[in-house]
Amino acid sequence: MEANEQPKKEKKRGGKLPVILAVVLAWVVLMASMAAILDARYVRFYLYGDETVTVECGDAFVDPGVYAVTAGRLFGESERHLPLSTLGEVDTSRVGSYVLRYTTRWAFSDYSTERTVNVVDTTPPVIELKTVEGYEPTWLTGYAEEGYTAYDICDGDLTGHVQRTAEADRIVYTVTDAAGNTATVERVLPKINYQPPVINLNGDQHMIVYASLNFTDPGFEAHDLLGNDLTDHVVCEGEVVPYAAGEYQLTYTITSDFGDTVTAVREVTVVPVEIPDTIMPGEKTIYLTFDDGPGPYTAGLLDVLKAYNVKATFFVTAANEKYFDQIGRAFREGHSIGVHSATHNYNKIYASEDAFFEDFFTMEDIIYDQTGSYTQLFRFPGGSSNTVSRFNPGIMSRLTKAMADMGYQYYDWNVSSGDAGETNKTNQIIENVKDGCSNFKTSVVLQHDIKDYSVAAVEEIIRWGMANGYTFRPLQLDSYAAHHGVNN
Ligand code: ZN
Repeated sequence: MEANEQPKKEKKRGGKLPVILAVVLAWVVLMASMAAILDARYVRFYLYGDETVTVECGDAFVDPGVYAVTAGRLFGESERHLPLSTLGEVDTSRVGSYVLRYTTRWAFSDYSTERTVNVVDTTPPVIELKTVEGYEPTWLTGYAEEGYTAYDICDGDLTGHVQRTAEADRIVYTVTDAAGNTATVERVLPKINYQPPVINLNGDQHMIVYASLNFTDPGFEAHDLLGNDLTDHVVCEGEVVPYAAGEYQLTYTITSDFGDTVTAVREVTVVPVEIPDTIMPGEKTIYLTFDDGPGPYTAGLLDVLKAYNVKATFFVTAANEKYFDQIGRAFREGHSIGVHSATHNYNKIYASEDAFFEDFFTMEDIIYDQTGSYTQLFRFPGGSSNTVSRFNPGIMSRLTKAMADMGYQYYDWNVSSGDAGETNKTNQIIENVKDGCSNFKTSVVLQHDIKDYSVAAVEEIIRWGMANGYTFRPLQLDSYAAHHGVNN
């Protein structure tokens, strides 16, 4: 307690000095405050360079710098640089206006200033033209572009934006960057050798071929004078209908990129296969013909024909595969074999020439398999006068010509046995045939060997014919064909 009381006593003893000190201190503080107010100190920034700076896109931007000091009216600027921080960034790869903000903190306040940096693109892109060593322009394409690139320091690759304008002797390449700067470059073209190419036809320029199912173009080659193979550029126009006799023209053309053309022409003459002229037999003749077989009654029919040594004609179908061997037997026993139809389906075979031929030659192949030879004889399903084919107008007119051109002879009939729906009575069939044949010196009789009641009539017909001075013959290529006349 005593130790604490001692200083208090001393203060009381020197009482005047602290008062003077306090007055002096107050005065100093007052003066200092007044000086501070009069000085009005603040932060002053100094930018090196301009407040607004322009930089070309792609160039480097280096901040010219800035410093900040405090400044006042009374005491002027301090020499000490205040610590600064910079906000914002400049991307010189992109056009735009960027702001850099410099800030500092002094006397519990924030101070800042700005600099604007404008990144601009005033530089046009650069177009570079490529050249290919040894390149020569050709007649076909003229000058073929050797290549080019376009690059802009700001936009990057602009090759795909190049506009290429071909003029007579030069090509002008133009490209514009996003900022609107345009570059234009010209390429002066080398002299072009405009000697046209040559098309060489293989085979004869005028081909003469027999009417058949197929025509094969012997082909062609085309070269320009530089030795370039232009064969793939040849366009062939025109068509040969190989089964229809007539004059055809095939035109082979190469067209250059400028619209110039070189043409070669081939004439193709499709000539008809000759069919021998019809020879009418001198004596009274009956051609027995049997359609739609072979079938279960064909073998019995062949036995009867064999017994009387009568030769007939079979217009065969592919309906009954298990009797195909009867085609071979009939052939070997001296009968004539003709195509009737593989399918006998009117809607199918008369739908088009191609459909008819496919059906026809399917049957030809079966005949070949059974007999070892093809036949030139045939009978149209429904006869050449059929109207069932009228769903395809004109098909019979076209088919009769085409088949004749290819060397096939079609046979109709002038005596119908009536076995195709009219009657199924054997006696009636016999009467129909007798009556019919009595009207003609040469008769072509229609029967169907898939009808037992019709086959059963044959022996009596033969007996009657022989007794009445008729000769029975198989149809040959020069036989009377009893054409009905085409109705479609
Ligand atoms: Zn038939």
